[in-house]
Amino acid sequence: MSINASTPTVPAPETKLPKVGTTIFTVMSQLAADHDAVNLGQGFPDFDPPERLVEALARAMRDGRNQYAPMSGIPSLREAIAEKTERCYGYRPDVDAEITVTSGGSEAILDAIHAVVRPGEEVIVLDPCYDCYEPAIEMAGGVPVHVPLDPHTFAPDWDLIRAAVTPRTRMLMINSPHNPSGAMLNADDIAQLCALLRDSEIYLLSDEVYEHIVFDGARHESVLRYPELRERAFVISSFGKTYHCTGWKVGYCVAPPALSAEFRKVHQYNTFCTFAPAQFAFAEMIRDEPEHYLQLGAFYQPMRDRFREQLLTTRFKPLPVPGGYFQLVDYSAVSDLDDAEFCRWLAIEHGVAAIPLSPFYGTPPAGQRLVRLCFAKSEATRDAAIKRLEKL
Ligand code: PMP
Repeated sequence: MSINASTPTVPAPETKLPKVGTTIFTVMSQLAADHDAVNLGQGFPDFDPPERLVEALARAMRDGRNQYAPMSGIPSLREAIAEKTERCYGYRPDVDAEITVTSGGSEAILDAIHAVVRPGEEVIVLDPCYDCYEPAIEMAGGVPVHVPLDPHTFAPDWDLIRAAVTPRTRMLMINSPHNPSGAMLNADDIAQLCALLRDSEIYLLSDEVYEHIVFDGARHESVLRYPELRERAFVISSFGKTYHCTGWKVGYCVAPPALSAEFRKVHQYNTFCTFAPAQFAFAEMIRDEPEHYLQLGAFYQPMRDRFREQLLTTRFKPLPVPGGYFQLVDYSAVSDLDDAEFCRWLAIEHGVAAIPLSPFYGTPPAGQRLVRLCFAKSEATRDAAIKRLEKL
């Protein structure tokens, strides 16, 4: 049968995700490329992963580790994750029932939400929040309920969160160290969180992808440290952040057996399994060089400190950075443009790409003059950016 040119064309689909466009990270990286700007926007290191890890990956591929991995992850990697988790947080998850290796933290977030959130159920997110949360909730038919963090300290307001809970609340999502602010939950927050969730059936999704990037001797309050919280939690990690290889997209989820079982039903028919050669490489790296993740804060701290010192020579005011690899700066002494306009102007006219905060909010706070800079960059990149910022 020939194709008839007059056949009515299929109408363009009515979008299921009307709020979703190109992500701000892609937009800013494109602007950076078009205008030869120093890219402190998208959150990735511009230096290489450890040589040993790259070697292990190449070896795994040469050794024929190129076919499907087991659905939940290769046993030696799940063993290594269990050991690492015990060492860091005093809890050893069950290797077979509680750990699932995923294609990055993003896949794990989507799987966890789809595993438990039904159409019409509410998920509380704390704004500003990472941009994949809301669409993941909406794709599951859930309703995102945005609760603002304190606009200055980015600490949770537990009274506000409590007030947002309804009989339809299915999940609360938290993120510490926090993207974009670097704020971290403290022991008091954990006590408040326990009190809030106690006697409820609300699940917790704890996004801990920056878990090892903490500064000044602070302790990362992983949900996995607390039996009362971990019994209802999906805890999400990313090797991309820990091993300077965001493009490999490998992460994992630790959750109790019943939650992991539902999580795996989604994972199994989403990706089925994660890039096998990298799993062998991470298993080896975690086992043979625990210093890497144990000293990641010490690795990044000089970068953070120097970047903050350099910022003092500009009119940008740096906010505190307890964890993560982002520096928020207040630009109100430089411009009164809103943050999205400011970032466009900064990239096009002054050659520095930054990320505005407003896309991280359901409703951005009026008059906020903050942008996010990533300091996980070589000294040359940071110096080049500071030189440009000093002119403003
Ligand atoms: N959560 C947060 C807070 C993030 O910043 C990121 C990555 N930028 C992710 C999740 C996703 O992690 P991955 O790149 O491993 O998918």
